[in-house]
Amino acid sequence: MLHLDVMDGHFVPNITFGAPVIKSIRKCSKLPFDVHLMIDEPLKFIPDFASAGADIITFHAESKSDITETISKIKKFGKKVGISIKPKTDTKILTPYLKYIDVVLIMTVEPGFGGQTFMENQLQKTLILKNEAQKNNLNFEIELDGGINTQTIEIVKDYPVDICVSGTCVFNSEYMTSTINKLKMR
Ligand code: ZN
Repeated sequence: MLHLDVMDGHFVPNITFGAPVIKSIRKCSKLPFDVHLMIDEPLKFIPDFASAGADIITFHAESKSDITETISKIKKFGKKVGISIKPKTDTKILTPYLKYIDVVLIMTVEPGFGGQTFMENQLQKTLILKNEAQKNNLNFEIELDGGINTQTIEIVKDYPVDICVSGTCVFNSEYMTSTINKLKMR
């Protein structure tokens, strides 16, 4: 998948790009677009990102938008729903919503900038969530985002993780394909 980090300079102290850029790169790739909204008011912008070509829309539990309403809006557009939590946020915040969503994205760095150090202590959350999924027969996927590289993947491989986001490690490597393959082998 292509993971696209949308930042608004409010929810996180950095600005990246919005729906128009996603719309223009949509033409260049058939890969699923995993759009990660690090913005204050995701609910307002769901129609824009849905029509820009997102396949999965992930928003933050800590944003200002109502979680239930945001989930329904994303589903109304026929897209998969992800909810993300920052490192300091407890997984408990997700409990009421787990049966309605497709992906839980656990941030393994403070969101805002690429190239940060992987926070190993966040891996505990994958165990809590996996346990929750098994107990209640739910089938959301667990995604990690931040600091994943060919070294940290060695720690991640022992945890119940379905999707790993890797930015800096892939883009800074000389041979992207072989780096991606190395990560996938784990
Ligand atoms: Zn992301």
